[in-house]
Amino acid sequence: MTRLAWGSASDVGRVRKANEDMFFTSEWLFAVADGMGGHRGGEVASDLAIASLREEFVVPSTDALVVAVQLANDKVVGTATGDPELEGMGTTLCAMAVVQVDGADRLAIVNVGDSRVYLLKGDVIEQVTDDHSLVATLERQGRLTAAEAAVHPQRNILTRALGIDARVMVDSWEVLPVAGDRYVLCSDGLFNEVEDSRIASTLRRLADPTDAARELVRLANEGGGHDNITVVIVDVLDDDGVALPEGDQADRVVAAVSGEARAVGHDGPTAPAKPAGREGRGGRSKDKDKDKAKAKAAEPGPRPPARPRTLTWRVLLFIVAVFGVLGLAAGAVTYYGRHTYFVGFENDAVVIYRGRPGGVLWIQPELVERTALTRATVPAATINELQSGKIEPTLADAHRYIVNLDDQIATSGGTPPTTATSTPPVPAGN
Ligand code: MN
Repeated sequence: MTRLAWGSASDVGRVRKANEDMFFTSEWLFAVADGMGGHRGGEVASDLAIASLREEFVVPSTDALVVAVQLANDKVVGTATGDPELEGMGTTLCAMAVVQVDGADRLAIVNVGDSRVYLLKGDVIEQVTDDHSLVATLERQGRLTAAEAAVHPQRNILTRALGIDARVMVDSWEVLPVAGDRYVLCSDGLFNEVEDSRIASTLRRLADPTDAARELVRLANEGGGHDNITVVIVDVLDDDGVALPEGDQADRVVAAVSGEARAVGHDGPTAPAKPAGREGRGGRSKDKDKDKAKAKAAEPGPRPPARPRTLTWRVLLFIVAVFGVLGLAAGAVTYYGRHTYFVGFENDAVVIYRGRPGGVLWIQPELVERTALTRATVPAATINELQSGKIEPTLADAHRYIVNLDDQIATSGGTPPTTATSTPPVPAGN
């Protein structure tokens, strides 16, 4: 049987007033949640997510863990919807659990948001999870380097979190437990302050998981402590011979599955009663702070100032960023499609359109002026040009073109000159 040892530490940091991170450790389940939302929303969201995960995760399988995360999402969404004080709250959630695959132990890892799971294997640290954040997305697209992403001012904008939508995508991995491997679950308060190489050297230096977790929290505070910091360290002591022979270690990740956005009802998976003796402990190291915060929340009086970073803002900013880009594109197309004029035919009449011949995407040319010229009166040499639309940068240029046509007709002794009309704009009518 897989044997694990673990240690944890959590701290409010040096800037925030309350610790809205939450964690849980037990023999078979480990989790970190980083809550956010105005007032006491963040604290409630991370509490709810962890409590719900503990309650719902009873069958030791990766699927059941994914479903438990989705049920935790339901819980946060449901609680936020009925309570104006909690509206907009949300939380990240990353978790690791011992699960069974064909009678053998595996480690299941799940993630939503930008809390992380790292693996220290020998001397090498790697991030197992993917961050669901705007900068991580840009980094995966090659538009930011890792170094740029690490210090990007908008690195706290999330693309996924619990509590936002009834449906949530949960990433999951199944990993072989290998003796000597060390896993770290942490909130962004750690890795935004402490470089990965420093995290790795600390993990190598301190064998005891609790010592290592405390030291990492200390380093994060030393680095600025701008956010709540939570670290859970899990050591694989005994892998029951499940580890693959040397050389096959590349197959360590048995299955890396990107979760589907599955709609799950509250009835959830069928499950036997939770095995006895698997209760663990969880909570903030600053429980007093938490109680104080809760007592304060119950008191009447002025609301405490909103937290600088709320989920509403993170999501809004992301939406604004996306729509900003779309808006710029739409603006560019509209400008391209509308800023020029062209002279062409409407049936046999020569008219001035605003736009581009044939239109641009959804922008159709708009008839702005009719002239007295017709297909029959214009010089034959200009018919083709007018047929395809003679583009002019401005309306004045279009007028000059019409006047020029009039002149040509006059000098060729044809129809008497006609001035370009200036009838009021006429709708294109199509
Ligand atoms: Mn955080």
